[in-house]
Amino acid sequence: MQDLDYSAWDMLKGYEPFSLCDWPGRISAVLFFGGCNLRCPTCHNASFAWHPESFPVLDCLGVLEQVQRNRNWLEGLVLTGGEVTILPGFDSLLHDLSSLNIPIKLDTNGLSPDCVKLALEHSSIKMIAVDIKGPWHMYPGLTGDRAAPGQARDCLGQILELAADSPERFMFRITRVPGLSDPDIENVKAWLPPGFELKVQDYRPSRITANQ
Ligand code: SF4
Repeated sequence: MQDLDYSAWDMLKGYEPFSLCDWPGRISAVLFFGGCNLRCPTCHNASFAWHPESFPVLDCLGVLEQVQRNRNWLEGLVLTGGEVTILPGFDSLLHDLSSLNIPIKLDTNGLSPDCVKLALEHSSIKMIAVDIKGPWHMYPGLTGDRAAPGQARDCLGQILELAADSPERFMFRITRVPGLSDPDIENVKAWLPPGFELKVQDYRPSRITANQ
């Protein structure tokens, strides 16, 4: 862990050493990276996702040392944001983390399918949790006009194909935001490959604070 490519690590803005909810069924540590390609009006961490420069950068070596110290009881490491896949140096980040030899879960909005393909090449990535915002036609409104319906269909269509090929490495979620109806959620459920469930989440407030 000596020669880190700091381009991604410079966006490490939060660390939770112990979580029971970020990877269901596993005791996990969580790394929060700032920055996002979307501007969802219901974002639970808008300042963190959109203005990461206003949060201090964590000492990644100190965080990694702590993760390593907790390896005996940790069952997973969760990478979340923001949107981790858009980080410069994303592949190097995965390479660095793979050396910890801890199973990794990646949270993503699924709009960078090439990066998700890249992540799948790392055997340490055991789970990719994809947040689907809603039906394709609602993407402009749900993402602050950052994703057109066709873009959402193309990107998430690729993700759904990847999931069909590696079902054990994917899970899908949707957040019940204002304006999203039960039929909308049923619509999304119908796109998932056979055998997948769509986990419906309620909105929850941020756990990140600027002094972390
Ligand atoms: S994808 Fe997630 S982090 Fe990014 S703006 Fe939307 S809710 Fe916020």
